[in-house]
Amino acid sequence: MCIKRHSIQCIIPPYMMEKLMEKAENKPTAFKTKVQAYATDDKFRSKRQLFSKLSHGAKRVLLHESLKKATKKAAVNRAVYTAKNKETQPGTLVRKEGQAPVKDKDVNRAYDAAGYTWDFYYSLFGRNSIDSKGMKIIQTVHYGVKYDNAFWDGEQMIYGDGDGKIFSSFTTDIDIIGHELTHGVVQYECNLAYKDQSGALNESLADVFGTMIKQKTLNQTVKQADWLIGENCLLGKKYALRSLKAPGTAYVNHPDLGTDPQPATMSGYVNDPSDNGGVHTNSGIPNHAFYVAASAIGGYSWEKTGRIWYAALTDTKLVKANAGFADFKNATITHARKLFPGDSSVSKAVSDAWVTVGV
Ligand SMILES: [Zn+2]
Repeated sequence: MCIKRHSIQCIIPPYMMEKLMEKAENKPTAFKTKVQAYATDDKFRSKRQLFSKLSHGAKRVLLHESLKKATKKAAVNRAVYTAKNKETQPGTLVRKEGQAPVKDKDVNRAYDAAGYTWDFYYSLFGRNSIDSKGMKIIQTVHYGVKYDNAFWDGEQMIYGDGDGKIFSSFTTDIDIIGHELTHGVVQYECNLAYKDQSGALNESLADVFGTMIKQKTLNQTVKQADWLIGENCLLGKKYALRSLKAPGTAYVNHPDLGTDPQPATMSGYVNDPSDNGGVHTNSGIPNHAFYVAASAIGGYSWEKTGRIWYAALTDTKLVKANAGFADFKNATITHARKLFPGDSSVSKAVSDAWVTVGV
């Protein structure tokens, strides 16, 4: 198959999209939908890359007018639109901040999950929205026809309905919504370049915070949590998109997708040019480091381990745009010592976790 290979900061990585296209090649209608989805992903790639290169001042020039009105007042401000299955954005406004639930479940799920995400970042870290300046959270549901993806495009969230056979709606998992909004947070902080190890860290932070947002919403301890991403969105009881607890096992022998290719340690590190050097694959390594550290530290992931990871994510001196796994390891150990000076077991657990994954 001759299709331009690329990667964008979406929840479904190119290696899954390519598998879906291969499987659909003999079914003209399904094939058309998958190829169109692949092309749609590409449309958003250039916008995301552009936003990641701009200064904060330059970004503001290009932002939606409503996003420029953000204030420093700490309050969540959401607006959910529908694209009505067209490829338009933001589309038609359905529910804005403070309004009662509507009939459309996707609208309500996106509204609620954005609220949990805002509350997570504000109550734990004092972060007022994606840019920490009260940025309005704009989301569009029902994007395209049977579109199999969700992403943050640099200024807003977009969700497809899924094909209904392999994927359900991309609003069905809080962790997916938390994942994508965290790409926004990363964009405004360490702004990790989306290739090789820095790109895998970018993907990993989105998974780590996405799963913590789900755990906090469900009030689960590290032992109670399933550590899965997208278990509702990828249809079938045995399947999820990724596992932080056991990378490489989120889906095994899936009829359309095969087996989850994520490594848990550096011995499985891949260089996949179709995915910007394996950003969605190698993210399994820092993902697993977070799981191992959080499990050793115990309790609720966001209480200690999450604070350490957030401090590293917002430390632009130790974690620069081109940071590798070793730089992030160093930042987490440094912040574990700073945040918990009286308890060396915390920084030791963090250090040991990185050693476990071979970093
Ligand atoms: Zn992502």
